[in-house]
Order: sequence, then structure tokens, then C-alpha cells
Amino acid sequence: MKIYSINKTTLIDYPGLVAASVYTGGCNMRCIYCHNAPLVMCPASLPTIDEEEFFSFLDKRKNILRGVCISGGEPTLCPDLTAFIDRIRSYDLKVKLDTNGTNPDIISDLIRSKRVDMIAMDIKSHPEDYPRICDCDVSIENIKKSVSLIINAPIDHEFRTTVPSGVFSEDDMIRIGQWLQGARAYFLQAFKEADTCMTTGLQEPSGEEMNRLKSAILPYIPVASIRGID
Ligand code: SF4
Repeated sequence: MKIYSINKTTLIDYPGLVAASVYTGGCNMRCIYCHNAPLVMCPASLPTIDEEEFFSFLDKRKNILRGVCISGGEPTLCPDLTAFIDRIRSYDLKVKLDTNGTNPDIISDLIRSKRVDMIAMDIKSHPEDYPRICDCDVSIENIKKSVSLIINAPIDHEFRTTVPSGVFSEDDMIRIGQWLQGARAYFLQAFKEADTCMTTGLQEPSGEEMNRLKSAILPYIPVASIRGID
């Protein structure tokens, strides 16, 4: 597995668990707000961390850590993802996968084989609006399949939508909410400006904007919450 960075201890990335996060490179989307454009656009130009170094770290920290979050980029594009997960699980650690949902067959296999304990899927917008946000040609049918698989899987999940200022309307939120009914966790994540963002000029949303968007989605997803606003 090509690992591009590691967060050695996080209380945030894996809800409820002390975890480490690993970041894979490359992605099949080009989201306008992606805060890690070099990792998505040109991973080959970035240094990698030796897999053995990561497992040596896990060996030392296995008594403190309870889980590992595999993020990206898009981890389901990595051909050795399954073997990597199996090796993590051999340390008796739980595994959370972050995904954009473009590979439902891989997600299905990971759920069926009980290799993942939690999946967090990005929801870029409602299905008709995906091209505007992810700025590429993706199979919306695959995205819908992934949502359905994850909602119906007997594992923890979360869906989350990143919100730059002025990008989403309340009607967009209503349509996301109608689509995701049955989700047991959904977060509106406030966009944070970064030097490595895919697009220049995007602004962080205000608390008032986030609350307005949340109010629109609540009738459909009563558990909807906001992240990233103090
Ligand atoms: S935000 Fe996620 S899905 Fe979108 S381009 Fe970046 S890594 Fe890929």
C-alpha cells in the first residue's frame, strides 16, 4: 500500500475510538473544495511512507490504539487495500474506511467479508448536482448503490457533505435529505481554507449559513449535525 501520510493519534477521525489515520494517494474525483489537491492530482511526485514503518508503529502503539482510519485520496482505488486491511486487523484493531462511494463492488466486498467496522462516505451533493461539485464524470448509479449498501449494512456509518460558502442552496439540502433518508449519521462539514485547495477563492461558511442549511435537511435526516463551526 502506498501511504502518503499518517496521523499517529486522532480522537476525531474514528468517532468514539483512539485511532491512527493513514492517507492513500490518487482520486477519481476533482472536488472543487478538495483541500489536498497535490495528493489527488500528482501523488507520484510526493514522498511515501514505507508500509513496514507504519506496521512497526502499529506494533508499538497497539495497546493505545483501538482503530485505524483509511482515508485518501480514494482508498478503494488501491489494488492492495484488502491485504492492507487484513494486516491491520491482525493487530485486533477496528477499521474505518473513508470513501467517495465510486466503487460499490469493493464497498460491498468489504462489508460482506466483515473487513470494515465503519464507513464514512462523502456526499458531494444530490445526485443531479454531482458533476458541479466533483468536477468530473462519475457514475451516479454507482454512487447511489454505495449509499444504499452503506445505509443497509450492519456496521457504523456516516455521510458527510463539505460546505463552502454560497455553494449549496436550501433546495440542494432538501434533495440530499430526501435521497439519504434512513442515514443514521450525517454531517454538514464547514469548508476550511487551505493552501493546497483544488480551487482558489472559496470561502468558509458562517455559522448562520450552516444552520440554515441544516434546518433544510433536518425534516429528512433528524440526526443531521454540523461540524467545523465553533
Ligand atoms: S475531496 Fe475527496 S473525493 Fe474529492 S477530490 Fe479530494 S480526495 Fe477525492
